[in-house]
This record gives sequence, C-alpha cells and structure tokens, in this order.
Amino acid sequence: MSTFQAPKGTYDLLPPRSATFLAVREAISAPLKNSGYGYIETPGFENVELFSRGVGESTDIVSKEMYTLTTKGGDELALRPEGTASVLRAALQGNLHKLGGLPVKLWYSGSYYRYERAQKGRYRHFSQVGAEAIGAEDPALDAELIILADQAYRSLGLRNFRILLNSLGDKECRPVYREALQAFLGGMDLDEDTVRRAEINPLRVLDDKRDEVQKQLVGAPMLRDYLCDACKAYHEEVRALVTAAGVVFEDDEKLVRGLDYYTRTTFEFVHDGLGSQSAVGGGGRYDGLSEMIGGPALPSVGWALGVDRTVLALEAEGIELDIPSATSVFAVALGGAKPVLFGLVTELRRAGVAADISYGGKGLKGAMKDANRSGARFALVAGDRDLEEGVVQLKDMESGEQTPVALADLVDTVRAKLA
Ligand code: AMP
Repeated sequence: MSTFQAPKGTYDLLPPRSATFLAVREAISAPLKNSGYGYIETPGFENVELFSRGVGESTDIVSKEMYTLTTKGGDELALRPEGTASVLRAALQGNLHKLGGLPVKLWYSGSYYRYERAQKGRYRHFSQVGAEAIGAEDPALDAELIILADQAYRSLGLRNFRILLNSLGDKECRPVYREALQAFLGGMDLDEDTVRRAEINPLRVLDDKRDEVQKQLVGAPMLRDYLCDACKAYHEEVRALVTAAGVVFEDDEKLVRGLDYYTRTTFEFVHDGLGSQSAVGGGGRYDGLSEMIGGPALPSVGWALGVDRTVLALEAEGIELDIPSATSVFAVALGGAKPVLFGLVTELRRAGVAADISYGGKGLKGAMKDANRSGARFALVAGDRDLEEGVVQLKDMESGEQTPVALADLVDTVRAKLA
C-alpha cells in the first residue's frame, strides 16, 4: 500500500518551520490584543448562504472556490473561504452589538479553504489572522487597522512591503460610476469571460492583470472622479490619519479586491519579493454587509493577513525570527539514574523551565546526541555515582563547562543561570 499524501494544494506545518508560523500568528495578533480587540473563534464551516449572500454570488470565491457539502441531515454547508462573514454572523448571533458600546472590536486566527489553482503562495488550505471593527463609521477606525497591520509586519522585521489604498465609494456614488464604467467597457474588445464579468461586477475588470486588458483600460472613467462629497471627505481623513502616524501608503485607484462587500476604504498589503502571489494581506470597509446577511445597519471595517504568505515574505527578505530554543535543559541518565533524573525534569517543568530527557534506553553517546539536537542550553548528566554523592552534573552546552550541583539546589541553580 502506498503511503498517504496531504491533499493537493495543502501542506503540513512541521517543526522547526512550524515555530515560525506560530511566531507570525503571535506577531500579527499582538498589536490587536494591545488595541482593544477581543478574541473570537467561529466554526470552520457555515451555511453556504452566508457566503453567497455576504461575499457575493459573482465573486470567484463563491462561484468557483468554495468547498461545499450536503450533510446527512440535508444542510448545505461550506468550509469557510474567508473570515469576515462568519465573524459578523457570530457577533450578530451573540448580540455583541447590543451589549455595550460600538464598535465591537474582534480578532481571530484560523484556517480557510478555497478550491484554487495551487501554486507557491496560493493554497487550498491557508491560514489568516484577521481583525474586524463592527458598528462604527469613523475614519480613525480604518486608519487604526491599517496602522496596526503595518506595525505587525514591521515587528517581524519586514520592510519590502507596500500599502495600497483606495476608496470604492458607497451606495450613493458607486452605482453612478458603475454605469459609466460599464458603458466604457462595452466599447472594449474583451473575451467572453471578461464581458460577463463586466456585466456582473465591472469594477473587477480594472483589477485584470493582463497587459492587453490594461492597455484598453487607458482612459477608463476612474472612481476617484465619481466619489460623492461624503466619501471624498471620509477618504481624505483616513489618508491624513495614516500619514500622521508616519505610515507610508500608495494611492491605487485600481484596487478593487475580490469580495463584493467592500465600500469606501479598501487596502491591500503587497510584498515585492513574492512574484505573482504578492498580496500578503488586505481589507476594507463593509458598511452594507450586516444588512446583506439579515442584520441591522452596522458599518464596519476589517482586514485579514495571510500567515502563509507572511512566512514566505520573511523567507524572501532573508529574515530569521529569533525563536528561542524550545528546550532549556536536557537530561541524560547513565546507569540506574533515570528515575531520579525523570523526577528532576518533572520538577524543572513544574517550575516553568523547558526541560526534556532522552528516551528509549540509549547509551551516553546516543543520549548526548539527543541533547545536542534539542538545542538545550544545559545538559543534565548523572550516573549512579553522582547520585550517591547527592549531585548531578550540569553541563553548559555552549562552553562545555561542567559543574556538579546538589540535587536540592538544581531548580534554583538552573533558573539563576537561565535568567
Ligand atoms: P483575501 O480574503 O482574498 O483578501 O485574502 C487575504 C489574505 O489571505 C491574502 O492577502 C493572502 O495573504 C491570504 N490568502 C488568500 N487566499 C490565499 C490562498 N489561496 N493561499 C494562501 N494565502 C491566501
């Protein structure tokens, strides 16, 4: 029988690289935890309709990329392709918007699923950390989220990323623009797919990466010229607040993003070392989404940053995160010393010192190899003679220096040396 492989478009996170993923999740969430965002966790699947209504029937995500299933009970479910619709659904269901002041600020971290054409940086199972600020229309909130994402990337040491910013207008001005754009696109020579897209979601055509399409788009009406006064003023304030925080961005009037629910502010973080899958994160304002999924009017803004691509970005910039060794002390027992050393390792662990011990009845050589491999700062070596004298040998793995330590003093001594 052949061994099983992970499904196409997925990969396993294995040590030691998996430690980088954990550190990235931690780095992205730290600024959020520090800014009033509470943790939320929702199921990995939802009713299909939440996404078809929320994300939009015409989007690639819903029309092509969703993993859907019918349960034995007849429910139509989908593995979540993104986080915003679920988080808003949960906030509404939990009445978070009625409990206290608005906005409700939430952050999350989890797995997302899209049936995509798999390639480097584009997977069928991927991981995001996201944030949503629900129920307030305030440019400072849009600015806050952009600034916090910038802070997260910078805390990881990333530098070669850019922030693209745009406004998509609102329900007053966007329909007018949409019509103007559609009229323009009608005169272009487009393939069948793009013609259909121009009918359903013309703004997405602006996003088309193909040169021949971009060439024809020269002279197309631009949303910037159609924004109503309220949207214009809102956008200017977001820009001013982000600028005042010292965060540099680029105005990108063609930035549309692949989800239908966005209004006004939209932004994307792109990394220049990642080739075609350059978007490491993105987000924007979604003032109409709550009503689209049956809730009250709750203007909101949020983002999701991709953990997989952030790790790729770190690799592209040659950044190695300073991840402390998982084990501080590694015990090597000789002769009949194993039970005592096992007891000491337990004691160290209870005292908060990361400790491990060689298993499987290895000899000195094999056990010392385990100690080396563990990356531990100290090896704890003892045989019967040491124990008779009431000591263990504490070997500094960096200097090679070895000192006997009384059994009763071990925990304190180790802690002092590690401090
Ligand atoms: P989106 O919801 O499409 O704006 O995605 C937000 C972020 O999630 C992107 O910028 C990527 O970093 C990440 N992401 C989205 N789709 C994938 C995927 N198929 N594979 C890996 N990362 C993804």
